[in-house]
Amino acid sequence: MALSEFELIDRFFRRPAPHAILGVGDDAALLAPTLGCELVASVDMLIEGTHFLPDAEPEALGHKTLAVNLSDIAAMGARPRWALLACALLEADPAWLASFARGFLALADAYGVELVGGDTTRGQLALCVTILGEAPSGRALRRSGARAGDAIYVSGRLGDAALAVAHHAGRVVLTPAERAYCELALTRPTPRIALGERLRGLATAAIDVSDGLTGDLGHILDASRVGATVDLSLLPRSPAFDSRLPGAERALALDCLLAGGDDYELLFTAPESAAAPLQALSAELKLALSRIGTIEAARGLVVRDEKGEPLASPPRAYDHFG
Ligand code: ADP
Ligand code: MG
Repeated sequence: MALSEFELIDRFFRRPAPHAILGVGDDAALLAPTLGCELVASVDMLIEGTHFLPDAEPEALGHKTLAVNLSDIAAMGARPRWALLACALLEADPAWLASFARGFLALADAYGVELVGGDTTRGQLALCVTILGEAPSGRALRRSGARAGDAIYVSGRLGDAALAVAHHAGRVVLTPAERAYCELALTRPTPRIALGERLRGLATAAIDVSDGLTGDLGHILDASRVGATVDLSLLPRSPAFDSRLPGAERALALDCLLAGGDDYELLFTAPESAAAPLQALSAELKLALSRIGTIEAARGLVVRDEKGEPLASPPRAYDHFG
């Protein structure tokens, strides 16, 4: 039996929201921010064909739809609190919706995020999440605080998700083992929430790597009016890259590492004095924090190859209109 719009919302998206004054079910949600905190707001849209394939597994899609938003909140050094979900659906398929909601809500629960509203309409599959978080007043991380001499760090590792995309496109053939972890990086990104919150007071600037390292570092450099040198040999990467960087597939490997996108790692800058605390934080969170380069006073981004020579033309980041 076909579900009505309101049955659909009730069944899949209406849940208790103990930290909201009013959640799903009225004309709008009512939320009370914590005293002494600023609200941190962000919205992200995922469109079928642009951000995911028509046959995307719905539970993984639910996870990723929220994960990309949580990643933005992490990059601000904030704590996620509430989400609103707007979706256009071609049909109200209960099995698809149950699976999508499971993926979305499991991740929401894992980070204490409450779904407090949304909109549901018929149309070509599109998903749009608004996320609200909080950070102590004046302490959120921005892109604009990097200073000459700061070290540049990135969490986790880069390029695996892009390798999975390249595999799907037939541009590379991954081994089954490589494919397993690259696919996981693409479909189940882990938002670095705990790291982001702990970087308040340590990092001078931060961004999440969603469009590729060079492009996203470029945003920090522009906002901070500085330049940078990054060493290719220092970029954290999986074994899938070690076999490809020296050989015939070097161009593709460089592209994935430097401009691949979909990494959802945190890229941040910090002064020398933060090196020891960051090392301790990395051990505590069991998350690699790799120093990949240095902020320079002179504008521009230099990527040095394994021999220390600048790459002639570092791969450029993804641009929807580029
Ligand atoms: P209105 O017509 O006043 O905009 P709607 O009929 O769109 O209200 O939605 C009814 C309630 O269900 C609202 O509280 C809205 O926030 C919520 N809602 C609608 N779609 C979703 C969804 N996909 N996820 C969560 N809440 C939703
Ligand atoms: Mg509405």
